[in-house]
Amino acid sequence: MAQVRSMETLTIRPGLHVFRFPVGQAYLWDGADEDGALTLVDAGPVGAGERIVEGIRGLGLDPARLERVVLTHAHEDHCGGAAELAAAYGAEVVAHRWEAPFVRHEAPLPPPVLIEEELALWEATRGLPAAPPTRVDRLVEDGDALPFAGGARITHTPGHTPGSIAVHLPHHGVLFTGDTVAVTDRVRLGVFHIDREAARASLRRLAALGPGVLCPGHGETVTEGAAAALLRAAEWDAGL
Ligand SMILES: [Zn+2]
Ligand SMILES: [Zn+2]
Repeated sequence: MAQVRSMETLTIRPGLHVFRFPVGQAYLWDGADEDGALTLVDAGPVGAGERIVEGIRGLGLDPARLERVVLTHAHEDHCGGAAELAAAYGAEVVAHRWEAPFVRHEAPLPPPVLIEEELALWEATRGLPAAPPTRVDRLVEDGDALPFAGGARITHTPGHTPGSIAVHLPHHGVLFTGDTVAVTDRVRLGVFHIDREAARASLRRLAALGPGVLCPGHGETVTEGAAAALLRAAEWDAGL
């Protein structure tokens, strides 16, 4: 297996961890207060699989308990490690039904429509290896529930890609946004959207969920004032 250079593991709160890569991150819900089943939300870039396994062991958990990998969308920095984890541990791979053809490489993912402000960042972040074709075992859509964290809810957030999703854990106030949201010096609309207008509408939907813990596709997790920051982001970006 290919390896990515470095990975950092952070525990956000009991049961919730993040594996951070130079580009991309993967969140782990450890199910310790339930059945002990492990769920990953996103799987990092290509080569991340082995590092994620090390990270799971480093937390004192058994990677054989990896039950599912939920992919927020098909970009290579989110599903790069999914195929090897699914193959090694039989984890169920979950994606929106509109995104699955891109994850499986049955159809090419349309390129983003870049705005002026994104051009330099786009050039600087090219060159990640493409994700391998990855099987998808469970197709989801808006409102579907997944059996972890007391009932996880799928929110369809089209715009960044057609089948982007967010994963909401209403019993814990946790929201995984994928690339609809990025955190830099503030919480903001992410970058590189196929349909920016749709992404803004998706951001407003996520803000309405009022999460206590915001887990973005890129950047730091927000555990204080997350709901207000998301609302502000939706207002700011509505004005762009
Ligand atoms: Zn993306
Ligand atoms: Zn991304």
